[in-house]
Amino acid sequence: MTFRGTGTCGMALGEALVVKKNLDKVSYQKGSPDEEMRVVTQALQDTKDLLLSKSHDEAVFSAHFEIADDPELQEAIEAYIHDGMSAPDAIDAAMIDIEGLFRNIDDEYLQARADDVRDVCLQIKDSILNPSRQNPFQDINQPCVLVTDELLPSDISLINFEYVQGIVTAKGNRTSHVCIITANKGIPMLVNAAHCMEEIKQGDYLCLNASEGWVQINPDEESINHFRKQTELHSFQLREMNGCAMQSATTVSGKTVPVMGNAGSLDDIKTAVLSGADGIGLFRSEFLFMQRDGFPDEETQFQVYEEAARLCGEKTLTIRTLDIGGDKSLPYMPLPKEENPFLGQRGIRFCLANTTLFKTQIRAILRASHWGNVQIMLPFISDISELEKTLALIEECKKELEEQHFAFDAGIKTGIMVETPSVVLLASEFASRTDFFSIGTNDLTQYIMVADRGNAEVSEYYVQTHPAVLRAIEHVAEAAHKHHIPVSVCGELASDPESIQLLLKAGIDKLSVNASAIALVKDRIRHSH
Ligand code: PEP
Ligand code: MG
Repeated sequence: MTFRGTGTCGMALGEALVVKKNLDKVSYQKGSPDEEMRVVTQALQDTKDLLLSKSHDEAVFSAHFEIADDPELQEAIEAYIHDGMSAPDAIDAAMIDIEGLFRNIDDEYLQARADDVRDVCLQIKDSILNPSRQNPFQDINQPCVLVTDELLPSDISLINFEYVQGIVTAKGNRTSHVCIITANKGIPMLVNAAHCMEEIKQGDYLCLNASEGWVQINPDEESINHFRKQTELHSFQLREMNGCAMQSATTVSGKTVPVMGNAGSLDDIKTAVLSGADGIGLFRSEFLFMQRDGFPDEETQFQVYEEAARLCGEKTLTIRTLDIGGDKSLPYMPLPKEENPFLGQRGIRFCLANTTLFKTQIRAILRASHWGNVQIMLPFISDISELEKTLALIEECKKELEEQHFAFDAGIKTGIMVETPSVVLLASEFASRTDFFSIGTNDLTQYIMVADRGNAEVSEYYVQTHPAVLRAIEHVAEAAHKHHIPVSVCGELASDPESIQLLLKAGIDKLSVNASAIALVKDRIRHSH
C-alpha cells in the first residue's frame, strides 16, 4: 500500500515505530475557578521555564517562549475558566480560538505559525495532565521510521534522532518549524499523510520517498532492494554535493557564475534549492498543464507559481510560459495534425493563437511575482512581432490586475529563450527589447544542425558543441553584452561539466542546469578561467 503526503526531501527505509501522543485519556479533577486559575498560572510558569532553558538549542523555542508569555493567551484561558471550564479545557478552547485566527490568514507562513500556538498550548496542558512529563518517544532506541499523529517543535528535544531514519506524520505543514528543523537535520519527512496512524502498524516495513511525497508499506523484497539502491545513490550524491554546492562558484580569474536549476515541478524546485541552485533559471510550466484533465485556471496556476516563488525565497524564479507543441501535447486539447510539428504551432505561436489561455497564465505569474523574485521567459520566439505582442499582453494584464487590486511586481523582467536561428541572427535587435536571454541549446542545436533532437538516426549531426552552435552562442553573448543584458544557457549543454569552460569562454554569464549537476558544474566553474 502506498500513501501520499507532502514531503520535504530525501529517502529512507526501515521499520515503523508508531507513537500515538494522546493526552486526553488522563482524567482530571476540576476545582473552583480560582483553583483552576492557580493551576494555569503554575503550568504557564513551568512551560516558560522549560522553554527558556531550551532556547539556546533552537531559535524556535525563544519564539515559543514569546507565545507562552503573551498576556493575551493567559487572558483567553482565564475567560474560559470564568465561564466554568476546567484548566485543560480552557487551554484547549483558547488554543482553538488563537490557532483559528492564524489559520485564516491568507499567508502560508503565518498559517504555519498556528502550529506553534498549538504546540505551546499542548505543552501547557501537558504540564498539568502529565506532570511527570513521560517522554512519548522514549522507545526510540534503534533505527526506525517514526510514525506519529503530529510532531511539534517541542517534541524535537525528546527524540533521539540518532535512530530516526525518516518521519511520517498524519498532520502538519511543510513550512512548519518542525519540518525546517528536521530538514536541517537531513531527515526525510512526510507530513499530512492522513490515515497513516490507522494504516501503519508497529514494525511494518516502510520505504519513504519524501522528495516525491510518498511512503510504501510492506513492499515486496524486490521493491525494497531497488529502493535501497536508490537511497544509497541518493545519499552518496547528497554527500558529494553538500560539500560546497551551497556556496557560489567563482572562476580562477574571479568571475562569479550563478548556477541555477532547471525544474518541471515544485518538487524539482525543492531539490534544486537544496542542491545549491542560485535560483531557478528554467521552470518548464507546461508540465503543470500536461498532468491534468483540463487547462488549469488562474487560481490553480497562481498557487503553483506562488509556492514556487516562496521556495526560491530571494533567489530568482524564471517561469517559462507554456511551451506546448513539438513533442509535448496536452491530453485534453488535440493540436492540429502537422507534417513537421517542431516547425509548427509551438510555444509562443500556440499561446499567441490562444490569447485567453495565455493571459490566464500571464496573470497568474504576475500575481505570484508579488511573493518572490519572479521573471517571465518566452519560449520558441522566432520573430520580433511575437515579443512585441506578448509584451503588450503583459501590459494589458498588469492594467487589469491593477484595476482589480491585485498585487504584483510592476517591474517584472521579461526575457526570451534563444532557440531559433532567426533570434541568433537578429540577436542585437532582440537584446534591445528584452531583459535577458537564455539560450536553449536543445532546440537551437536541432534548428541550426537541421537534426531532429529526438531522432537517433541523425544523432551524429545533433552535436550541441558543434562549431556552428558555439559560434551562435558567442554571437548571442556578444549582442547581449552590447545591450547590457545577461545571457544564460539552460539547455542540457549547461549540465555537461565538460562544456563549462567552452560556455564561459563564449561569454555566458549564468548557467541553468539539472539539480543533480549543480555541484559538479560549480566545481568545474571553480577550476575554469
Ligand atoms: C532548450 O530547447 O534547450 C530548452 C531548454 O527547452 P526545452 O528542452 O524544454 O525545449
Ligand atoms: Mg526548447
